[in-house]
Amino acid sequence: MTLDQAAIHEAGHAVADYVLGLRCESVELTHHEVEQVEDHGQVMSANPQYGYKHDSKKAMNDTMRDASIACCAGLAAEHVICGVPLEVDNLNARADFANIIDFELRGMPIPGKRRGCVGDEGTWNYIEKTLRKARTLVPQHQDLIRKLADVLVERKKLSGEEVKLLLDEWRRPAVTTEPEAKPAPKNGKG
Ligand SMILES: [Zn+2]
Repeated sequence: MTLDQAAIHEAGHAVADYVLGLRCESVELTHHEVEQVEDHGQVMSANPQYGYKHDSKKAMNDTMRDASIACCAGLAAEHVICGVPLEVDNLNARADFANIIDFELRGMPIPGKRRGCVGDEGTWNYIEKTLRKARTLVPQHQDLIRKLADVLVERKKLSGEEVKLLLDEWRRPAVTTEPEAKPAPKNGKG
């Protein structure tokens, strides 16, 4: 995995958090120390179960399912931008999928799954579906992902607040400046 690809992966997670209304707390590239930390980077996000004020169980489950999409968005961004196959056995997304299994363990219901156990075939079918959802999200936000990845390559670590400020800025529609109605009167003599 190249540095640029690692940056696209992490930016994919962070941008998905942003557009899904989830709270990213930090983004870090650890590609340069992958031998020590065994990870190319990481995004810390608010815990979907406890990190928000949910007014119903349904709202909490919805947040956990959105967080599952954000977990898949790293590989989905690599797929769309770098051409990496969108497959559940991708090693760089192993920890991301483990998070989804952890959400299920913590009570996230998997649509359509009535029996079986945590992490079984039904879970992996859900992960595959979620990966495809994340894949449809990426092209709409490809610009943000690329720009954030560039900043990450340069800075290595950004706080959630810094990420939000950058994305707010890039998302703001370009302001078109009206041409001046009248040229300012010249203060000339003659
Ligand atoms: Zn990831």
